[in-house]
Formats: sequence, structure tokens, C-alpha cells
Amino acid sequence: MSNTDTRDPTSLRTPIVAVLGHVDHGKTSLLDKIRGSAVIEGEAGAITQHIGATAVPLDIISTIAGDLVDPDDFDLPGLLFIDTPGHHSFTTLRSRGGALADIAILVVDVNDGFQPQTLEALEILSRSQTPFIVAANKIDTVPGWNVNEDSPINDTYEAQSDRVRSRLDEKLYEIIGNLSDEGFSADLYWRVQNFQRNVGVVPVSAMTGEGVPDLLTVMMGLSQRYMKEEMEIDVTGPGVGTVLEVKDEKGFGTTIDTVLYDGTIRADDQIVIGGKNEPIVTDVRALLQPRPLAEIRTESRFEKVDEVSAASGIKVAAPDLADAMAGAPVRVVRNRPLEDVVGEVRAELADIAVDTEEQG
Ligand code: GDP
Repeated sequence: MSNTDTRDPTSLRTPIVAVLGHVDHGKTSLLDKIRGSAVIEGEAGAITQHIGATAVPLDIISTIAGDLVDPDDFDLPGLLFIDTPGHHSFTTLRSRGGALADIAILVVDVNDGFQPQTLEALEILSRSQTPFIVAANKIDTVPGWNVNEDSPINDTYEAQSDRVRSRLDEKLYEIIGNLSDEGFSADLYWRVQNFQRNVGVVPVSAMTGEGVPDLLTVMMGLSQRYMKEEMEIDVTGPGVGTVLEVKDEKGFGTTIDTVLYDGTIRADDQIVIGGKNEPIVTDVRALLQPRPLAEIRTESRFEKVDEVSAASGIKVAAPDLADAMAGAPVRVVRNRPLEDVVGEVRAELADIAVDTEEQG
């Protein structure tokens, strides 16, 4: 493998998206729906299943969103959804002292409204200063709802009776009111001009796919408009990531599922990882990605790759990973003094320890 990278070093990476919300409000269903829509719309291979994450490229988003998205208006490559929803993964997964996720979806069941974990999620999002939108989910459960699978919210809204529409409006305004009680100025997303100041509420159904085109459009627009600068990375630089999970994998020993948010990691890199007691210095043995479903029956679930660039989810097999921790930093050493990289990882670990104490 050559170490000379001919790519344009500055490129825009995919924003990393997390899904939060109260239990049973539909976080998993929403992720499944987005994945499912992307698979249906995509040509083979266009949507890629990463380790612990799903990449939905811009062309798929624009196919799902139809008239709502003109791909020419965007230069971010798409969205990377972290597959494990929930607060625990959000607070554990960090990057350089901030949240690993660049942007979040807070799911609220329109019938159940605000619940303890909704409030907790708001608190977490506000503390980490993560931009977010609210998915007002389960709109299909409004009595009398007329389902229009996968359609944009405006189309399906037009197709509802006056009574159904006003029932939905009532529920949506209740959510907007609740957000306001918590100090967030919010409105239905099509009325929001400045998503930095106001929280957009997107009515959706994770069951029927209604409103999912809008949700993807708003996430893409919000990222493009307000986060483009943060997405500028040096793709040819040494990779930087966060451990999602430490797992024993048959044939590979202990592995770390990692979300890479900067640079590139290669199969022959030396890496430094946050460990229980001290940074672990080791050499990558293999970089593993999930094999496409069709090929799994005959071979291992994973295929080896030579390198991956941010943002992506990747399984790293290497010696000495037993003490690696979920949430800890991973850094590629490449052409730098090892002590410097160990120092960076040690400093990041100290930050995490302080924050964990503060959060009690
Ligand atoms: P999570 O705990 O937030 O991940 O919630 P789940 O995705 O597991 O959903 C909880 C329950 O709500 C499941 O039975 C889902 O089928 C159901 N559900 C989720 N979204 C919708 C929706 O949009 N409409 C309807 N009718 N049911 C939904």
C-alpha cells in the first residue's frame, strides 16, 4: 500500500447524526425506516452499512425527498446515522470534549408528548450545544388518519380531513408549547427561518414514512447551512475517532467498533486508544466492514478493507484491545512522534473523566 495520497486533502465529511428521545417514542423505528427507504431507493451499493452506523448519501436523500431537495444546492456528501439510539450512547460518544454527533433528532410521540427522557434529552442537547430538530412521530395514529406512504408532509396533510388536520395541529402545538416551556423557541419546520435560533418541528410517521422526506431534507439543509465549516477535514491526515463498542469477534479477538470523524485510518497504521488505565499503543491488524447481506452465507460477516476516511463506522482488529473503553478516543499516529499522540489521547481521557464526575 502506498502512503502517498493524491486526493485533495480538504474535503467535506458527512455530518454524524444521533437519534434521541423517550423510550417507545419511535427512535429505532425511525432509523429502520430511514435505512429501509434508502435501501429501496438506492441502486445496489449506494447506501452503505457501516459498523454501528448507516451512511445515506446525498443522491439517495434527494431521491427520497423528491422535489424537496435539489442535489445541486448541497456539497456535503450525505448523512451518517449512528445506529444505536438513546441518551447513553450520546453522552458516552464524544469527540474532542464535545458530542460525537454533529446534529441530532429528538423523537417525540405526538400522543404521549413530553416525558422524562424527552426532558433529559433536551438537557443533554443543550449542554453539549448540539443543533437538533424535533421529529413529532406517530402522526398516523391521529384518529381518522389517511395514510399516504412515504409522502412529504404537505402532500399527506392536504389529503386529511379538516377534523384530522386540526387534531394533528393541536398535538403539534402542544409540543411547540412544551419546547417553549423548556426555553426553546420552536415552530413547525416550514416556518423556521433560522434553525440556529429556532427548533424546527417535523411531523413524521416512522411506521408509514410520511414526513421522512421532510426530515431528511431539514437535516441536510441544517447541516449545509450552519455546519459546513465544521465538516471541513483533511481526509488524507491521520484518522481520529471514538470507540463505540469493544467486542470479542470470532477469528479476530477483541475489536473496537469505531466512528471515525477526521482523517483516514489504514490497515498498516499504528494507533493509540484510550484504555481503562492508560493509553494503549498498538498496530492495526485488520480494518473490517460488514459484508453485503447477499454474501454473508458463505463467508465471514466482515470484509477487510485497506483504508477508510471520515466520517465512517469501522471495526478495528488489533492486539491488546482488552482495556479499550467505549467512548474513548482513537488516534492514528502516522508520521508524528508517538509521545505527542499518546499525550493527546491522555488529555482527552482526562477531559472525559472530569465530565463524567460533573454529570454525577
Ligand atoms: P424506541 O424505544 O424509541 O426505539 O421506540 P420503537 O422504535 O421501538 O417504537 C416503539 C413502538 O412504537 C413500536 O411498537 C413501534 O412499532 C411503534 N411505532 C414507532 N413509530 C411509530 C409510528 O410512527 N406510528 C405507529 N403507529 N407506531 C409507531
